[in-house]
Amino acid sequence: KTPVPSDIEVSQQIVKEVGLLPIAEVGKQVGLTDDEVIQWGIAKAKVPLSARESRKDQPNGNYVVVTGINPTPLGEGKSTTTIGLAQGLGAILGKKTIACIRQPSQGPTFGIKGGAAGGGYAQVVPMEEFNLHLTGDIHAVTAANNLLAAALETRMFHEASQSDEALFRRLCPDGKDVSPVMKRRLKKLGIDPDKNPSDFTAEEKSAFARLDIDPSAVTWQRVLDTCDRHLRCLTVGQGSKETVKSKEKEGERLQHDRQTGFDITVASEVMAVLALSKDLADMREKLGAMVVGYSRAGTPVTADDLGCGGALTVLMKDAIMPTLMQTVERTPVMVHAGPFANIATGNSSIVADEIALKLVGKDGYCVTEAGFGADIGMEKFFNIKCRYSGLKPKAAVIVATVRALKMHGGGPPVSAGKPLQKEYTEENVELLAKGCCNLQKHIENAKKFGVNVVVAVNKFKTDTDKEIETVKEASMAAGAFDAVLSNHWAEGGAGAENLAKAVVAACKACDDEAFKFLYDVNKSIKEKVEIISKEIYGADGVDFSELANKQVMQYEKSGFGNLPICIAKTQYSFSCDPSAKGVPTGHRITVREIRSCAGAGFLYPICGDIMTIPGLPTRPGFYDVDVDLETGDVLGLF
Ligand code: ADP
Repeated sequence: KTPVPSDIEVSQQIVKEVGLLPIAEVGKQVGLTDDEVIQWGIAKAKVPLSARESRKDQPNGNYVVVTGINPTPLGEGKSTTTIGLAQGLGAILGKKTIACIRQPSQGPTFGIKGGAAGGGYAQVVPMEEFNLHLTGDIHAVTAANNLLAAALETRMFHEASQSDEALFRRLCPDGKDVSPVMKRRLKKLGIDPDKNPSDFTAEEKSAFARLDIDPSAVTWQRVLDTCDRHLRCLTVGQGSKETVKSKEKEGERLQHDRQTGFDITVASEVMAVLALSKDLADMREKLGAMVVGYSRAGTPVTADDLGCGGALTVLMKDAIMPTLMQTVERTPVMVHAGPFANIATGNSSIVADEIALKLVGKDGYCVTEAGFGADIGMEKFFNIKCRYSGLKPKAAVIVATVRALKMHGGGPPVSAGKPLQKEYTEENVELLAKGCCNLQKHIENAKKFGVNVVVAVNKFKTDTDKEIETVKEASMAAGAFDAVLSNHWAEGGAGAENLAKAVVAACKACDDEAFKFLYDVNKSIKEKVEIISKEIYGADGVDFSELANKQVMQYEKSGFGNLPICIAKTQYSFSCDPSAKGVPTGHRITVREIRSCAGAGFLYPICGDIMTIPGLPTRPGFYDVDVDLETGDVLGLF
């Protein structure tokens, strides 16, 4: 339809007027058998990991990552292009193709950004189901994270109020064996896991029973999937029963409270574990190895030390299966995991990509999306996700829009909910040409990893021929393999035909041996942060706070020094300053603190002012959302 209706109207129109393909039929397009499609209603299905195992001897398809320039707050259409390209490859060129995207967080859905199913005639349908709850994976992540928070908090409370002997008696009631889960801790302590608790020495009892967590060295936060900024910092344990006996004063009781905070679920380590696990056994190990804090002696305390790793895996066992959905053109999409790109790893799961690559086979395509700007999402895709999966991408598609490049050229700030200024709605080649440096730097960065780069100019109706030509020329000058206008938002797969052809050519021309990481994980933590900052962000150097310096020492001592780096930083600029557009020079990266995600397998430096739970704007997206009481349809989800 022209003009193109809102995303939700397109989705509802497709579902009602064209109809969904039953999800089992969507699976059949890529060879999934009935047993490999675990139906979750009509529109969604879970795909078990056996779909990958049973095809393990088959060749992988072509692996393509879609990324973008530094965006405006409106989003430049990475998800839309991922879906449009998959429709172009699948529905138009007839290549077996699966798009792999993340499950969106409820935070931005009701905050500033709306849905993340793509848009226009390049989206996943039904977009309401995609954007709200899906198959419950994010809820499972929240549940697992917060069970561990409760386990930690309660253990510290019990340790504060009980002797080693009493703790041990409760952890291992007389005559009962140590639980199978807790045997992991015994092994770690070098105690025979089959030893009868009544034979433990006093030393063994206290080593087992007392984790002696230093309250000032707790790193685990609670999470929820809402932009609730007032939970960033709060005090827990203020109830009348959360008191412990004072050691100093007989008869006095002290409040067992503590300052802590919440993160958004999609920034949690559990979410990263979901995204990076290879299978259930690997997930079990990763969840158990998550560090919640440090003992007073400086030893890392893990989920398995708290006896919680098994329960966390139970909560996550269905979440490990990707969810199958379809595009408006009935081609398959895998939705799985949802880490934010600015404050987390920014990429969908390894298992979804692996299943997709097996299903599409040698001549097929797995188009996977890396979040936000290529400086963060793509860098983490290559250096973290591909390092752990061992998969080699053949091409990177960088999505650019005329409007965002004009902003980088000095155009006025773009804000959600406000009409665009005339700089963006009228031709202005000069402004655009000035801003193309942002795209060029991203192209140069992607080439450092040895992949071919195709620029997708995501067409907006106000873009002029001259403007589009300007972006294409700048792309080729920076060494892109190709630069193509794509009109999938308005025309669906047909509008992305040229982009799909360019991607096919880029994959064919790819030298499989050329792919490389930016850094060797065995370099020191500081060196790795410096390499990313200088090579990708164009920074002069890095400044580590006193806290970050202390943490570097702690992590190197704890054996976490050789983990890859996941930098948390604004998505709006190559620098830490969201207002520094284009390609800022002469800037330094400031590392406030470094968190460890030792279970998921990376270190997480937090740079500049970035927050690990966003806030809501004055006019949040939910102002538009309601339900049609007659039809039950969701209204206003963008
Ligand atoms: P990103 O993944 O980069 O954050 P999205 O693909 O989610 O961006 O798109 C953000 C919003 O912009 C969506 O509502 C989508 O419908 C809209 N959009 C994307 N491309 C276009 C386009 N070419 N013309 C008009 N609107 C678009």
